[in-house]
Amino acid sequence: MRRLLVAANWKMNGSKESNALLLNAFKAGFDGSADTAIFPPAVYVPQLSEELAGTSIAYGIQNAHFEKSGAFTGELSMDMAKDFGCQYVLVGHSERREIFGETDADVAKKVAAILAAGLIPMLCIGETLEQRESGITEQVCEQQVGAVLEKVGIAAFEKIVIAYEPVWAIGTGKTATPEQAQDVHAFIRAYLAKSDQAVADKTRILYGGSVKAASAGALFGQPDIDGGLVGGASLIADEFVAICNATQ
Ligand code: PEP
Repeated sequence: MRRLLVAANWKMNGSKESNALLLNAFKAGFDGSADTAIFPPAVYVPQLSEELAGTSIAYGIQNAHFEKSGAFTGELSMDMAKDFGCQYVLVGHSERREIFGETDADVAKKVAAILAAGLIPMLCIGETLEQRESGITEQVCEQQVGAVLEKVGIAAFEKIVIAYEPVWAIGTGKTATPEQAQDVHAFIRAYLAKSDQAVADKTRILYGGSVKAASAGALFGQPDIDGGLVGGASLIADEFVAICNATQ
C-alpha cells in the first residue's frame, strides 16, 4: 500500500564530473522498483534537472529558508527550489540540528513552507546515543514529530515523508538492527494513528543511518520501514543502485 522510497543525501560532496559519473551509473542500474530522490548540494540542482530529465528519478535540496524571499543572505527559498524542478526538501537533518542549531520550531516552520510551495518535506528525526541509552528514544521522536504535527496538522502527513535516523547510526557504520528500527517506526506510526489511523497508514517512514547494500533488504522488509535515506553509500554508484533495487 505504501510504495517504497529510497533517497540519497549527498551532503556537501561532489563535483560536476563526479556527479555525472554517479548519475549515469545510477540511471543505467536502477530498476525502477521503488520511488527515488537525490539531494545534491543546491548548486548542482540544475545539473540534476538536466541529467535526470525524462527519468522517474526525483531530486530536491537539503535545506531552505522558510521565508519566501528577502534579506536573508546565503539562503534560498522553497519557491526557488520548485523553479528548478525539485520535488522534495530535506528538513531537520541531525547535522542541521546539531551543527547549525535548528530547533523543532524552525523545522516546523520549514515543513509548513515546503508544503505551502507544493513540495514534499522529508522530515528527519532521531535520538542521540545518550538519549537512547537514557531510554528516551520514543519521547524524542514524539517531540520532534509532535512539533511538526502541531504546526501543520495530521492531514499533511499524507504528504510528509518521515526519515527516522538515529543520530548514533549516521555516518558511523553502526546500523540499527532491523528490529530496533522497526520498533521505533511502529511507535511513530502509532503516534500518528492517535490523530488519524488512515493518515498514519499512508505516511511513509524511511530508515536512515549507515544503510548499505548488505543491510538494505532486511531493513526494507520490516512492516513499518518504507525505504531509506542513504548518506555515505549513496556516493558509491554500485552500492546505491543495489540499495534501491533491494526494495522489491
Ligand atoms: C544521512 O546523512 O542522512 C545518513 C543516513 O548518512 P549515512 O548513510 O552515511 O549514515
